[in-house]
Amino acid sequence: AALRVDVLTIFPEYLAPLGLSLIGRAREQGLLDVRVHDLREHAHDRHRTVDDTPYGGGAGMVMKPEPWGEALDALLASAGTPGSVPHLLVPTPSGRPFTQALARELATEPWLAVACGRYEGIDERVLEEAASRMPVTLVSLGDYVLNGGEVAALAMTEAVARLVPGVVGNAESLVEESHEDGLLEYPVYTKPPVWREREVPAVLRSGDHGAVARWRHQQRLERTAVRRPDLLHASAALPVLTGADGL
Ligand code: SAM
Repeated sequence: AALRVDVLTIFPEYLAPLGLSLIGRAREQGLLDVRVHDLREHAHDRHRTVDDTPYGGGAGMVMKPEPWGEALDALLASAGTPGSVPHLLVPTPSGRPFTQALARELATEPWLAVACGRYEGIDERVLEEAASRMPVTLVSLGDYVLNGGEVAALAMTEAVARLVPGVVGNAESLVEESHEDGLLEYPVYTKPPVWREREVPAVLRSGDHGAVARWRHQQRLERTAVRRPDLLHASAALPVLTGADGL
């Protein structure tokens, strides 16, 4: 497979959607090798405990280091090529924001693993020790708090996997998307030409490819100025529109 992704979680069923749609088909075709592991297999007491109370007090529970240590040992032992290691992604609201640029970087790697936290997170020593054995990146899905890392694992796997050649049939459809070049995508339309008295913009039906391209570029600039002015400011090469035309 072009990309292997291992997900470590206490809720393996949470990752079931990775068997559906484009990702599911890519797995069947051997383009992706997705393996979901139950962290509790590495908890050996009668209740298969993975959490404990925090040192220093405070609310909530913390994921114990021992099951994580064992799970990561098993992961490294399963390397296809002896000595190869995965790039370990650790979802956390205190991580580096997950962006299309990061997805592009990760899509060039052969092996990713995602360590899904729950409760108040994972004992910090697990991350320190892991970083001494493999590349580790803390990644945030956005500035809000989820219950666990599983939704982040789903989102990251989907965003990265669709950039792996062959996973999305039409490679061109990947190039013109939002966030690929700092602008949002233009509005899209399909048949019928008039729906509930609303017409598809005439230029799109004109057959003039140059005019369509110019209109789309203008729409992208306006839309970005109105919805995400921060993106325009981040990209100095682009003119900053006022957004007065409104969308
Ligand atoms: N106490 C942690 C904090 O304040 O940073 C939040 C823990 S959260 C309830 C439990 C787990 O959900 C985290 O360990 C992480 O795996 C995941 N998580 C929550 N929000 C996330 C986000 N914005 N991005 C990525 N993962 C997130």
